[in-house]
Amino acid sequence: MDKRTIRDIDVSGKRVFLRVDYNVQFDDGTILDDMRLRESIPTIRALQECGAKIIACSHRGRPGGKVVEELRNAPVAEHLGRLLGQPVRALRACVGPEVDAAVAEMHSGDVILLENVRFHAEEEDNDPEFARALASCAEVFVCDAFGTAHRAHASVVGVANYLPVVAGLLMEREIDYLERVIHPVRPFALILGGAKVSDKIGILENLAAKADLICVGGGMANTFLKAQGIDIGASLAENDRIEDALRVMRQAALRDDLRLMIPTDVVIADPGGERANTVSVNRVPPGFRILDIGRQTIEDFRDALQTMNTVVWNGPLGFFEREPFDRGTIEIARALAFLPHAITVVGGGETAAAVQRAGVADRISHVSTGGGASLEMLQGITLPGVAVLLDR
Ligand code: ADP
Ligand code: MG
Repeated sequence: MDKRTIRDIDVSGKRVFLRVDYNVQFDDGTILDDMRLRESIPTIRALQECGAKIIACSHRGRPGGKVVEELRNAPVAEHLGRLLGQPVRALRACVGPEVDAAVAEMHSGDVILLENVRFHAEEEDNDPEFARALASCAEVFVCDAFGTAHRAHASVVGVANYLPVVAGLLMEREIDYLERVIHPVRPFALILGGAKVSDKIGILENLAAKADLICVGGGMANTFLKAQGIDIGASLAENDRIEDALRVMRQAALRDDLRLMIPTDVVIADPGGERANTVSVNRVPPGFRILDIGRQTIEDFRDALQTMNTVVWNGPLGFFEREPFDRGTIEIARALAFLPHAITVVGGGETAAAVQRAGVADRISHVSTGGGASLEMLQGITLPGVAVLLDR
């Protein structure tokens, strides 16, 4: 990575404005998925070892520039405190006298969490005065909020106008792995799924030229099947994307070194959504819906993946939220986990959740914490929150 990190700057004893992405959900006071909190711990520990005072800042949800009681950061601070084994003080403001007073009382290694920064409309407007106010409590800006790096908001990019800004360790790891996909060691495979072609066509356009294998599953594969004249019953498809699917298939056919795989068999649900069975793609009865890739397709994808050196996956291969339509997604997650020597990278919010559910997240080289941010990077877009980091 050509950006500076916390290893390249002196933070000893300094007040650090640490932008994190703790945009997490709670159900009745219990955190649903604390991956983003856990992934931020190494950066916090490293800063603490240097004797820094850590002023953490995050948004949560979409409060739309006003205070929403359910979106306060206090429960996040409590959970973070449990993970760190020390209390994390939650403030009820992110700028102003309450923050100044709290920061003045901090000791080395202390962590405080500012209030939800999106309670101020100035955050999303990237208001310079608001950014200056956020920055005023600190001497250094460490950005670890990869999940928000595609947003040019005040606490992500604006603060960098007033403080030197470097990447935290999570940000560094995210950028490193996504760069290894954008410049892959071949053979390189792209696995794409999810609901729509329109969400993924940008990734295809950016990475197909470097790919040796493209596996298409999920709802988006239906559009590819339909483009081949196959009757997909009542399955989800995008008629206005058939041309895109045809173009991808035509381009792949022209290249000897690229194999494009689409499902040959599928798991379908009857019109009532009650019964599921597996059929060849040519045998989808009217009114039935394709909700997963079939056994043979799983086998074929898995076999083709064995020789790959780099694999990136975005988009579940079926309606994985409901059994038995999670089979394809889970089997491919396992296949990735047991590839002998490949670098494996998973991007996208739902795909990351699916890999966690398959229980193999720790056997994947990198599961991105950034849904939208990782997708934009895979599309070749420069993220504002990355661009703003100091160059090495
Ligand atoms: P990510 O968040 O990882 O980028 P997407 O948002 O693109 O993934 O897609 C996830 C959604 O796609 C899931 O909610 C999943 O149920 C849905 N999906 C995948 N395959 C199908 C299918 N065959 N029919 C309907 N929905 C599907
Ligand atoms: Mg999604």
